[in-house]
Amino acid sequence: MTVNKENLQFQTEVNQLLHLMIHSLYSNKEIFLRELISNGSDACDKLRFEAIGNDSLYENDGDLRVEVEFDAQAGTITVRDNGIGMSRDEVVANIGTIAKSGTKEFLSKLTGDQQKDSHLIGQFGVGFYSSFIVADKVTLTTRRAGSTEGVRWESDAQSGYSLEQVEKATRGTEIVLHLKEDEKLLADGWRLRNIIRQYSDHIPLPVNMRKTEAGEIKDEWETVNKANALWTRSKSDVKDEEYQEFYKHVSHDWEDALAWSHNRVEGKYEYTSLLYLPSKAPFDLFDRDNTHGLKLYVQRVFIMEDKEFKLMPRYLRFVRGVLDSADLPLNVSREILQGNKIIENMKSGSVKKVLGLLENMAANEPEKYQSFWKEFGKVLKEGPGEDFGNREEIAKLLRFASTLDDNAEQKVSLTDYISRMKEGQDKIYYITADTHTAAKNSPHLEVFRKKGIEVLLLSDRVDEWLVQHLMEFDGKSLQSVAKGALDLSKLETEEDKKEQEKVEAEAKNMVEQIKKALDGKVEDVKVSHRLTSSPSCIVLGDHDMALYMQQLLKQAGHEMPSTKPTLEINPTHPLLKRMEAETDDDRFAEWASVLLDQAILAEGGQLEDPAGFVHRLNGLMLAMV
Ligand code: ADP
Ligand code: MG
Repeated sequence: MTVNKENLQFQTEVNQLLHLMIHSLYSNKEIFLRELISNGSDACDKLRFEAIGNDSLYENDGDLRVEVEFDAQAGTITVRDNGIGMSRDEVVANIGTIAKSGTKEFLSKLTGDQQKDSHLIGQFGVGFYSSFIVADKVTLTTRRAGSTEGVRWESDAQSGYSLEQVEKATRGTEIVLHLKEDEKLLADGWRLRNIIRQYSDHIPLPVNMRKTEAGEIKDEWETVNKANALWTRSKSDVKDEEYQEFYKHVSHDWEDALAWSHNRVEGKYEYTSLLYLPSKAPFDLFDRDNTHGLKLYVQRVFIMEDKEFKLMPRYLRFVRGVLDSADLPLNVSREILQGNKIIENMKSGSVKKVLGLLENMAANEPEKYQSFWKEFGKVLKEGPGEDFGNREEIAKLLRFASTLDDNAEQKVSLTDYISRMKEGQDKIYYITADTHTAAKNSPHLEVFRKKGIEVLLLSDRVDEWLVQHLMEFDGKSLQSVAKGALDLSKLETEEDKKEQEKVEAEAKNMVEQIKKALDGKVEDVKVSHRLTSSPSCIVLGDHDMALYMQQLLKQAGHEMPSTKPTLEINPTHPLLKRMEAETDDDRFAEWASVLLDQAILAEGGQLEDPAGFVHRLNGLMLAMV
């Protein structure tokens, strides 16, 4: 009996993705089986979780498994699971649309170059749609546990998909791949067994195929994969390739992991952790709902995904893997898990393991660490603000660009910085700006360059937040070169100091005059000891937010208290010399105004009256010709 057959269109993004999948992943076509088996395994995990406290969902079939069958004549492969299944709405939501936020943006990055795109798509995760690499038609029939109605979804990836209500005796999902003409050879027992062993050996769920004897397919099933939970084996028995394949299953990633840490922890509580660092950031790294993280098991039985329980803090949200507790009861409920001591203990132990893994990598494999930093550094920088207890540990792992190097690469650690500090220097100097170029060219760096003092150049959005929470490292305070009073007295010679006093005394009148001209616009006007080649700069209070950040927050609709900056001038600059000679008061005021406005611009701030600035500047230029 068939009712309700209807044809539906894929969401635009799905169409794009399908097209891409079919054309760029050709050289990796065997992964479709890993993806389908992985989905079947997830579906069994979900059933187990939902069945806690509701045994009837098992429908007397608690022997969870994935089955793979083929028909060489018809050219089909079937992958079947007795997991949770899907309702009609779930099929539409999960298979007809991509709900992940940022998908549009992700797809807009595609280039049409197959090599590059296949890397990009790895960051997205290939999943169910990879079926269409080898099939020109896919039929998915599913029934949700506890429901009486089944639903059939079918598509050729060209013209949308059809949905119809069907009878389905068994719970779970069955997927039939109608292989493309030139892929029909995949419908072969030997090949399929090999693919399963290669990619799905260590998922903790049996993957079964029918026995064959003398070329004849029997009615009996046998388990093809090892189906033992990889993390329960001892480290020395597990090959790197096995770790990598298991990684792809838990992470939904299709590139290799960068590194992992596998631990059996004994002590007050007993648990096993297998924690992976991906080599590439997923496209939705900054999506707050980004889900896949750690999976929680109790004595090898899946309990739940990280989504429900933050098993990793947000600044380590890229970590993937498994925690398996020997102490929690098998029938745990959400209520038990909330604030549970055992969970908290596993969490903090795992954070330490990840930080230790990173520290080791930074020390022993600096290039590898650099590649980690490129992908995830911005996220790790959230750490000092989020995890007070591990602040020192995290701070050791941070890397920055600095005035020592001309490029934007973030390579300098705070420890490196301290080891290079000048005699008498007691602070770690940094500057924050909107871009690396703006940081690098800031007038505030002039005196530091002259004295050969290194300054860290911070230009990630998160940096301003980082420095608010990381006030010191290894007993040295962090100091913005653009904020507060600059005290380099310990680094200055007697001659320097004398010279400064002289300049200050000579400029006294002019400073007063400028202060009068800018009355109400600035907090104060001072002679600068920071500038060598710029005429002026803005200095903010120690606790003020950088101008470019204030700008950003204003644009985002936040009320910002308007703090008046201090203007510092460089009396030795030719422009200031020219001003000194100015006899017309009005014109002097114009000069002063331009000095202030250009200093604000150099700081990434915005002028209240840009047109007025341009007008004044033009007036002054004309007066010169
Ligand atoms: P992912 O596994 O990364 O979420 P997929 O494209 O592989 O992405 O699957 C999309 C979604 O479709 C899954 O999250 C799941 O909700 C649903 N799904 C896929 N296969 C199955 C299955 N065999 N049983 C139940 N749900 C499934
Ligand atoms: Mg999947």
